[in-house]
Amino acid sequence: MKENQSRVIELPESVKNKIAAGEVIEGPFSCVKELIENSLDAQASQITIDIVDGGKKLINVSDNGLGIHPDDISLVTMRYSTSKLQNIDDLNFIKSLGFRGEALSSVSSVSHLEILSKFDNNEIGRYIKLENGKIIEEKPKQRQKGTSVIVKYLFNNYPARRKFLRSSNAEFRKILGEVIPKCIAFPEVSFILTHNNKEVINVKSGSREERLISILDESFLNSLIPIKYETDDGLNLEGWIQKPNLPSQKKYYLFVNKRNVWYGKVFRILRDFYTPFSNENPSFILFINLPYEMVDVNVHPTKREVRFHKENKLLSHIHRAIEETIGEDSSYRKDLFSFEIEEIFQGDTYEKFWQLHRSYIVAQTKNGLVIIDQHAAHERILFDSLKNNKSFPTQTLLFPIHIKHAPLEMLKLKEIDEELKALGFRFHIFSGNTVIWEGIPAILDDISEEGIIAILQDLAEDRDTSIDKIIKAISCNLAIKAGVALSPQEMEHLVNQLFSTEKPFRCPHGRPTIYEIPLNELEKKFER
Ligand code: ADP
Ligand code: MG
Repeated sequence: MKENQSRVIELPESVKNKIAAGEVIEGPFSCVKELIENSLDAQASQITIDIVDGGKKLINVSDNGLGIHPDDISLVTMRYSTSKLQNIDDLNFIKSLGFRGEALSSVSSVSHLEILSKFDNNEIGRYIKLENGKIIEEKPKQRQKGTSVIVKYLFNNYPARRKFLRSSNAEFRKILGEVIPKCIAFPEVSFILTHNNKEVINVKSGSREERLISILDESFLNSLIPIKYETDDGLNLEGWIQKPNLPSQKKYYLFVNKRNVWYGKVFRILRDFYTPFSNENPSFILFINLPYEMVDVNVHPTKREVRFHKENKLLSHIHRAIEETIGEDSSYRKDLFSFEIEEIFQGDTYEKFWQLHRSYIVAQTKNGLVIIDQHAAHERILFDSLKNNKSFPTQTLLFPIHIKHAPLEMLKLKEIDEELKALGFRFHIFSGNTVIWEGIPAILDDISEEGIIAILQDLAEDRDTSIDKIIKAISCNLAIKAGVALSPQEMEHLVNQLFSTEKPFRCPHGRPTIYEIPLNELEKKFER
């Protein structure tokens, strides 16, 4: 590191004005977060965090980083004093975790703060002590290279805020919630965390995988599958996402250029891929790396939120990354759903399918059981066969259907006349709004007056009359409804047809068609 880069300056007014201002220290946990970030910015390879009484009594963060220059030690506790930024342009290109020069000043104004630091190759370190922002003592003092920041009696001068602190254990849990993400993002750094002199975390530097194994529990890690994705324009996404067929452990770790942040849109994208299995937010550990100038971290004082330039592009990349990993065409999903339906000997025959509530088809598989929504499944079958067929033979109705259509339906019928005929429908206008329907696409077994009307009603409500829309309306309205009894042969035929479609797992509207319950899920439910 260059000498001038590690020296502290007070930011010029023009930069101060651009900095997202506000409360940085919400409690012991945010104090710990800021101090760890300072140690990481100082390139420490070893950070020790000692906590007493949930941080209410003492927080001590010590590192072996670059240290603070002795002449700067009183300056670092002043507002907007930082070694990480110099001018406005630097704000667009923030590599460090800190940049606003606010944390130490905020902490010092609400606590008793001590800093002991030895800078680089200096002979001796320097010590400073402040009480509620006022310097009490400053002197040379021995120390190894690096910095210790000790915070005592947080909020001693703000009784109202101190009263709002929770029990020591509860505050410590929040601190743990800050330390763990740092351990995950910086596996090259060793961390020790103690609470009331008891060691809680002690992890040595190592690979990312080693770090995860040492810091997260095994059942959580086993519920994840790896994801990896890279683009030409410098985006790199990797990490782990939850296996879709396992319950969510509700742990969410997102890092953007190693900064742990909150970004709700990731949930929204992920959920799309999990809805057939669960409504809970799926867990993930995701590392997104992208050029610094593509991320704005100067959004919120606590730096927990970021804004992205070209956000839509980023979102579509995230979507594609997940799609490739667990989407319908992914090998993961194919393996998961390569279920073989098993025949079961019952009395003197073999059976394969059962119907529940005349709506769901149930079958046993090697790994558990599957439930198939008969309507959604049939919708998918009809949609695919209408869409993929190149020629549409017509089946002439034995008894043509006479329908007096409502005016809106009639208008729509005239508008999509050609499309319907191309699909295999045959009809002619008898007089006024009365139409005689004489033929239907051969792949539809049968049709009723209500079916035809429902299709036209659906389409009349919509201005979009693309062929996809028409096919969707047909498949939705003519698919077997819930409540219709099916024979074992009909069920078997339906399931076979479903699996010969390209996307058997969703109906054309995107709703799931199949739900698999693995045996191990059942075992868990029954606490076996
Ligand atoms: P910021 O991190 O935004 O610069 P802080 O108030 O957190 O603001 O810290 C002010 C300055 O104090 C930092 O810019 C850095 O120069 C120095 N500093 C703080 N903690 C450490 C540390 N652990 N090691 C080295 N320097 C530190
Ligand atoms: Mg800082």
